[in-house]
Amino acid sequence: MDLGLTGKRIMVAAASRGLGYGIARQLALAGARVSIAAPTEPAIHQAAERLAEEFGAEVVSFAFDARDRESILRWRDGTLERLGGIDGLVINAGGPPAGCFDDFDDAEWQAAFDLTLLSAVRMIRAVLPSMRRGGGGSIVTVTSSSVKEPIDVLLLSNVMRSGVVSLAKSLSQQLAPEGIRVNNLVPGSINTDRLKALVGARAEALDRAFEDVWAERSAAIPLGRFGEADEFGRAGAFLLSDAASYITGETLVVDGGAMKTVW
Ligand code: NAD
Repeated sequence: MDLGLTGKRIMVAAASRGLGYGIARQLALAGARVSIAAPTEPAIHQAAERLAEEFGAEVVSFAFDARDRESILRWRDGTLERLGGIDGLVINAGGPPAGCFDDFDDAEWQAAFDLTLLSAVRMIRAVLPSMRRGGGGSIVTVTSSSVKEPIDVLLLSNVMRSGVVSLAKSLSQQLAPEGIRVNNLVPGSINTDRLKALVGARAEALDRAFEDVWAERSAAIPLGRFGEADEFGRAGAFLLSDAASYITGETLVVDGGAMKTVW
């Protein structure tokens, strides 16, 4: 199958490591021209160098914080300057903090809104004029299984990410006549620094060895292991590509069969 990604100009947020990097890596492998961004320098520039070296790909990199409107616009402008247009966007950022209802005051709710939902609104608003000029585009959000099955200790994620999925569905309807597709990706448990930190925290709370909790949790997944960032990245590259030209408003789960929901 030809993904038709050669030469496509795609922005990937929060891509210095983890899921964002996994998507950027598959895009670079497929011949896309990639613009990656993350808050940490030099990590984001080193990530771009690695991808360029590995695949001979054109990868440009920018420092950016998803919570900051101006830095989103700087990333967008820098991408337009270096790549000449925008065909795709991956919305991603670090996750909001864990906790339950009594743990959060207004400021913490506002911070989660800024990080997860408002950042998605701002990134989409930033790229739409260029996609419209180009006659179409593909937008993919990185969310969480919490949009299908709320997770007890991740209240902020449950609420804000459901907002992102609702935004994507609404926009998929509005933007379809303009050839712009909007879809969501749901990671189950994918082997990244964040997953290692979460398993580490759980092991500490239970006073157990990290390796034991890791093995137990991965064995509970129907496919018998955690996913890899490249496996998640391939699903992302597909949704961004012309191979997914008739898919919009959808939520694709990449979780090794972990979720039991039918829809
Ligand atoms: P990670 O910690 O491996 O990588 C996070 C990336 O986000 C890094 O590149 C970091 O620089 C960037 N980042 C952090 N804060 C940012 C900000 N304010 N603005 C822009 N970029 C920022 O995490 P990951 O596993 O790749 O997770 C990515 C997203 O997916 C997170 O929101 C996470 O909650 C969510 N998620 C991950 C999993 C999983 O299994 N890995 C499961 C469910 C949801």
